[in-house]
Amino acid sequence: MDNCLFCKIAAKQIPSKLIYEDDDVMAFHDINPAAPVHFLIIPKQHVGTLADCNESQAALLGKMMLLAPKLANEQGCGYVAGANGAIGTGGFKTLFNTGPDGGQEVYHLHLHVIGGPRPWRGQH
Ligand code: AMP
Ligand code: ZN
Repeated sequence: MDNCLFCKIAAKQIPSKLIYEDDDVMAFHDINPAAPVHFLIIPKQHVGTLADCNESQAALLGKMMLLAPKLANEQGCGYVAGANGAIGTGGFKTLFNTGPDGGQEVYHLHLHVIGGPRPWRGQH
């Protein structure tokens, strides 16, 4: 899509600090991190918002969600469960901002993964 920032990142017309890439998705560090770890997972195909998704994006959304904990582990903010059901350590937040009241600024679907030791900016 013309003039879409994240389409341009997906096409490598604009550089990003890449974490992961395959045929369908990309993950890169947020340019203005809200926490020690803050990266975005995007589809390469243009989708405006979560509200624009339908059944045809179900597998893509599943892939993005399942990548979040895997990449969080690699970035050092994975959640490690405690023994016998106790709360463990680490962890991260996953966030889709949708529309103006949802705080969305870039209208190409992206999943925020935000983690690392607190405090975080604004605490999210
Ligand atoms: P949102 O408010 O959910 O639309 O989030 C957009 C996010 O994209 C913000 O956290 C920005 O810091 C981030 N962002 C904007 N431009 C870039 C860029 N060129 N590279 C990486 N992240 C970006
Ligand atoms: Zn786009």
